[in-house]
Amino acid sequence: MTLTERIKEKAYELGFDLVGVAPATRAPHADAYASWVDAGYAAAMGYMVRDVARRQDPCHVLPDARSVVVVGLSYFVANPPADLWDDPSRGRVARYAWGLDYHDVMTPRLRQLADFITRQARRDVQHRVYVDTGPVLERDFAVQAGLGFIGKNTCLINPTMGSYLFLGEILVGLELDFDEPAARPGVGGTRGRVGTCGACTRCLKVCPTRAFPAPYVLDGNRCISYLTIELKGSIPPDLRPLMGNWIFGCDECQAICPWPRRFAQPTRASFLRFDPNLAAPKLLDLMGLTDEQFRARFRGTPLWRAKRRGLLRNVAVALGNWGDPQAIPALRRALDDPEPLIREHAAWALAKLGPSAR
Ligand code: SF4
Repeated sequence: MTLTERIKEKAYELGFDLVGVAPATRAPHADAYASWVDAGYAAAMGYMVRDVARRQDPCHVLPDARSVVVVGLSYFVANPPADLWDDPSRGRVARYAWGLDYHDVMTPRLRQLADFITRQARRDVQHRVYVDTGPVLERDFAVQAGLGFIGKNTCLINPTMGSYLFLGEILVGLELDFDEPAARPGVGGTRGRVGTCGACTRCLKVCPTRAFPAPYVLDGNRCISYLTIELKGSIPPDLRPLMGNWIFGCDECQAICPWPRRFAQPTRASFLRFDPNLAAPKLLDLMGLTDEQFRARFRGTPLWRAKRRGLLRNVAVALGNWGDPQAIPALRRALDDPEPLIREHAAWALAKLGPSAR
């Protein structure tokens, strides 16, 4: 077995579903990324604006980098019971967040893989491990490594597994055997199967906030995932009514996509499952959460990132969109919350419920 084959075998042994190797050269979409940032589509995600040059070329991160080992792990959990998932008195949480924080699970496994590479190479190999947090255009390298193609919804789509995939990378100072990259933008090859969006535009049409100004381009300013997770301040009032009951992330553009609908493979990761208290919690229960209760319930999960102020801001919007008078007492109590952000969104929700709710 070659070194690359041994690395791939180890990656599968560690529980990853996909693994491939790309050359550590300038990312194919480096210029498109800079244009995306220039257009303001990174919104308030300052880290994406600051690190443009580093993201364009992995050698700016690790000068000795020669290869990028890219891994994928399915996070698909079967569709939840409709009576819970379609209940507007419950919030919706994006699938990737239905359990422990994936960074905490993926990162140690990738470090184990990096240690394996060093041992197998019998010398100290320069490397960097990233799970979504580093300055790497990971989907570009995933395509180059043969893991799939980038869909019009900007997700990496694997023709045998769909798009509910966590990605991770190791930049390595070793020249490994590279996989076949995608033949052209929007088309990829994986284990003999190719994929493409073709004439489909479902994801572009289904997006509640119209966050795709063009195919393959996502305007972060309008994306519900950005609004509910990354945005720290006030949600633009014109977008609030469009957010429905999404309170942390959004899966609309993946849920409509024929590729995951047909090919998504249930996750093998035991840290993810449908628990209504995490994936579809009752909005009224959340609106009353104290700091202490928030910490006890969400520590160690991705929702921790939103903090109480962000989550309850989102919950207030969802209660306004629910439009049921049952929400009025909880929203009125929230008008006295010590956090101004929560008070502001509770007032908006009460106004949306009508003059008698104020
Ligand atoms: Fe491509 Fe259609 Fe999937 Fe969108 S919904 S990513 S256009 S296949």
